[in-house]
Amino acid sequence: MEKSSRTKYIFITGGMVSSLGKGAAAASLGALLQARGYTVYARKFDPYLNIDPGSMSPLQHGEVYVTDDGFETDLDVGYYERFLGVKLSRDGSVSGGRIFWDVLNAERRGDYKGATIQLIPQITDKIKEYITAPAGTDFVLCEIGGTVGDIEGLIFLEAARQLAHDVGRRNVMFVHLTLAPFLENAGELKTKPTQHSVRILLEKGIQADMLIVRSVRMLDMDERKKVSLFCNIPPGNVISGINVDNIYRLPLVYEAQHACRRILEHFGLADRKANISKFRKIAEYLDSDKPPVTIAMVGKYFHVADAYKSLNEALFHAGMANDVRVNINTIDSEALEKMTDAELKKALGKSSGILVPGGFGRRGIKGKIRAAKFARENNVPYLGICFGMQLAVIEFMRNVCGVLDAGSTEFEKKCEAVIDIMPEYDNPADGSTLRLGARQLVIKPGTLAHRIYKKASVSERHRHRYTLNMKYRGVMEKHGMIISGSSPDGALPEILEIKKHPFFIGVQYHPEFQSSPYTSHPLFMAFIKAAMAS
Ligand code: GLN
Repeated sequence: MEKSSRTKYIFITGGMVSSLGKGAAAASLGALLQARGYTVYARKFDPYLNIDPGSMSPLQHGEVYVTDDGFETDLDVGYYERFLGVKLSRDGSVSGGRIFWDVLNAERRGDYKGATIQLIPQITDKIKEYITAPAGTDFVLCEIGGTVGDIEGLIFLEAARQLAHDVGRRNVMFVHLTLAPFLENAGELKTKPTQHSVRILLEKGIQADMLIVRSVRMLDMDERKKVSLFCNIPPGNVISGINVDNIYRLPLVYEAQHACRRILEHFGLADRKANISKFRKIAEYLDSDKPPVTIAMVGKYFHVADAYKSLNEALFHAGMANDVRVNINTIDSEALEKMTDAELKKALGKSSGILVPGGFGRRGIKGKIRAAKFARENNVPYLGICFGMQLAVIEFMRNVCGVLDAGSTEFEKKCEAVIDIMPEYDNPADGSTLRLGARQLVIKPGTLAHRIYKKASVSERHRHRYTLNMKYRGVMEKHGMIISGSSPDGALPEILEIKKHPFFIGVQYHPEFQSSPYTSHPLFMAFIKAAMAS
């Protein structure tokens, strides 16, 4: 296999337990390399057998993240995009299922010309094929999901071992995350499980080059030396991955331990001056007192960790950009549904802005509609995202335009179908039942949307099947809810706003996927600003 000799590969694995934060650790190391002027790209392998995460339950996996090219992937890709400012594609996040699918389809097509298909070399070759990066990339970060020792992850470790053999051991680095539990009765951090985890990797032919040991406190010198000796790793390459209150502190934690310098040393590269001012700025923001702004988020997956990960991020970024602390008041839409008017007023009245996120299905819609009504009637800034926009339209049609049984065919068969399925996504030949990924949209001058974006055309990411039925546009606009952004041909509405409201915006897309801690998304920035003024 041909690989550019210039590109260096960093594999990130994890041991002992899941959820050690491999994605955040990898992204942080990548950010430190970028801070030295190197170009960085990311790859994520998930050994599970689903072909892609699009149809996996968000109840198990947190939010479904959408890339520009319309791939439904898991939220780790969001970490990479936000942290590193790179755009990943469909090939950026690859599951075991997809590897097998590719190989087996090729086998059926006869591509292998009758050869025997085996885990090695066909599957490992396919895995290695996916470890590519744009030309000129200095470093590829390649995260292998799961924990070492998992049966389904073995073949990925084997492919990583082979890649090191193919491109030369000096061009590959293995960074392994482990956990050092603190045993209360002994009053000690325990390093033995780390030693075992490194040994499991060694059994697969991989000697870890750097360890990031997650723990409640920094490892002391003795602990580092012990890990170093038993794991065959220089003591300087044993990094403490202490717990942080915010992941954007991680680059500073690693930098203080010279992790990046050690990585460059491994590759025989000289260290460069690092510009880490953006992380210092975030840390300063986190350390200082800021006036609070409370946003009510009315959704239904709050019991699932990270179900609204990108939204929480986008609000955090917008708080930073406005120099305030955004508190999110999560309100379960089904609970809201059952409240009396007085209770609802109490629940929502505490917040300076109301956000209704994307969603699917019937459960909890009444609560979301009530939230939109409350925002409209009380001049509270409202941001409706995808489903949150569609439900705001339904509310407006029912209560302002007098279309009493306005609804969506997604959850009501018999209604005035103000929100209706887009025909091309209803039983499509190619099975794509959602409009996915980045689309250009045009923004009407003289509108709030235009004042926010300050642009006539922008690209935003989508994930929906239903849309506003343009039959109702006339009556809706006559009553003051206008279309301020649409697809370039005007056929699909993208942004709606209420003219006589300080800030009432619904968008058919997901702006949260394009917000970063370094550049807050204009829509969230304006929403928080409006909330500050309300
Ligand atoms: N369920 C709605 C649709 O399919 C909204 C989707 C969403 O909020 N992402 O159009």
